[in-house]
Amino acid sequence: MAEKSVGKPATGVAVQRGRSADVGRGTDAPSSWALGDGQQIPWEYAPAPEARDIVQLRSRYGMFINGKEVAPRGGEWFTTLDPATEEPLAEIARADVEDVNQAVGAARRSFRRDWGRMPGRERAKYLFRIARILQERSREFAVLETLDGGKPIKESRDVDVPLAAAHFWYYAGWADKLEYAFPARDPQPLGVAAQVIPWNFPLLMLAWKIAPALAAGNTVVLKPASSTPLSALFFADVCRQAELPPGVVNIVTGPGEIGLALVQHPDVDKVAFTGSTAVGKTIGRAVAGSHKALTLELGGKAANIVFDDAPMDQAIEGVVNGIFFNQGEVCCAGSRLLVQESIAEPFVERLKDRLSTLRVGDPLDKNTDVGAINNAAQLAKIEELVEAGQAEGAEMYQPACELPARGYFVRPTLFTNVSQSSRIAQEEIFGPVLSVITFRTPAEAIEKANNTPYGLSAGVWTEKGSRILAMVSKLRAGVVWANTFNRFDPTSPFGGYKESGFGREGGLHGLLAYLDLDGEGH
Ligand code: NDP
Repeated sequence: MAEKSVGKPATGVAVQRGRSADVGRGTDAPSSWALGDGQQIPWEYAPAPEARDIVQLRSRYGMFINGKEVAPRGGEWFTTLDPATEEPLAEIARADVEDVNQAVGAARRSFRRDWGRMPGRERAKYLFRIARILQERSREFAVLETLDGGKPIKESRDVDVPLAAAHFWYYAGWADKLEYAFPARDPQPLGVAAQVIPWNFPLLMLAWKIAPALAAGNTVVLKPASSTPLSALFFADVCRQAELPPGVVNIVTGPGEIGLALVQHPDVDKVAFTGSTAVGKTIGRAVAGSHKALTLELGGKAANIVFDDAPMDQAIEGVVNGIFFNQGEVCCAGSRLLVQESIAEPFVERLKDRLSTLRVGDPLDKNTDVGAINNAAQLAKIEELVEAGQAEGAEMYQPACELPARGYFVRPTLFTNVSQSSRIAQEEIFGPVLSVITFRTPAEAIEKANNTPYGLSAGVWTEKGSRILAMVSKLRAGVVWANTFNRFDPTSPFGGYKESGFGREGGLHGLLAYLDLDGEGH
């Protein structure tokens, strides 16, 4: 897979302008910056690698069942890689169905014996402890998340880990106040929750799932993605450190079929899934007709809509953040830029300038903006869709930055002349690829924004508050950001419409998904 990205020449128009020029970034980029008096200063960042020795990796990690690390019954292991180097990081237990039975059994016993009966104020103490330990170990988790997932350290350090801790803080606060959260009701936990999470935000998705489940009094069995199991297994250590009773949190590792066995288990009461729409549909079918409660958080193809009165610099930054944050491997990424025709040309030119300043490379370097794609299959999918975009007649721009010799890297990519029906306008690419579409009127913007099978998120950039309100009411998206993008907060519900799934995570809505308000429980 590495050969695919080695020194691949930039295709399309590689424009370098003004202050965006950067050593090694374009054929016409200056190798130094003239001071005007004959002196030159090199215009390159010094390497700023985060030390990785704070993470002490063992060669093998078992699963976490009933408070203990256990080896797989079938004796099989698989390897998790560093996507930036393709080097193996550790061997991980491959669960079989009997391991899943053990984990669900442990969660059930713990629910009956301890957690389901424990007063909310006692559960809260454990959640507060977990939040505090995550904060204390934040640098270790940030480095681990970057090593296993490929995301830039500045994002895992400043977004993933603090937000994960914030979810535990937030839901800890609700654990003893459920009857105030839902007055005149009798909120009771559902029982055992089966939770399957993806690889794009491994620790954060774990927190989105485990924190509300535990606050509401449920016990959990969680399956992380096979390409990013490490932070969940390190989280098991946090549970031990917090002296969480055995069986409250269980973690099984293994391929998708183990995820399916988990959600199909008859002793599971609640299923929560984040991942692709295809797998979401499979899970929906598997759970249909059973007593299980279900929430699905699936894919997206968000429109980021820029009107001609938008503050241009702010909007450029918002569009860049919307699609290049976490290499675009974000379900709510602003992967379609809808820009008003009257400003489209200057806006796209400035966007290209900004793209040429993005630093692609070593995710552990603190100056890196775009890290490694999470896995080889995902890189192949992105490359296939980039080729499809060109074949369908869209015009491609990629800055001519050098890519590392090894690892799963792709250049930030921008397509103009994109037709509404083309694959890059319709399909979730889940990579750093932006499709630009123009519009003339607000009605046309809404029509185009909603012309997608998905309905997860959208963005609106304009200085008019009234226009924001008018747009928000007509956009078919679970979350709409105004003059910002990709903002997350534990108090704010998140979720989608249509093929983006159903149910909400975050805020009070997130608790609802783990409670029976009529006091029946399970
Ligand atoms: P998947 O939906 O396949 O994986 C998400 C999780 O589901 C993983 O833990 C995976 O396990 C598990 N899983 C896979 N198959 C099943 C199954 N049949 N039953 C139960 N669980 C299952 O995502 P991919 O990793 O394959 O990515 C494919 C595409 O999905 C991406 O290109 C992207 O478009 C989209 N995606 C969307 C995400 C989102 O947040 N909305 C997140 C990730 C991907 P395992 O890792 O072992 O296969």
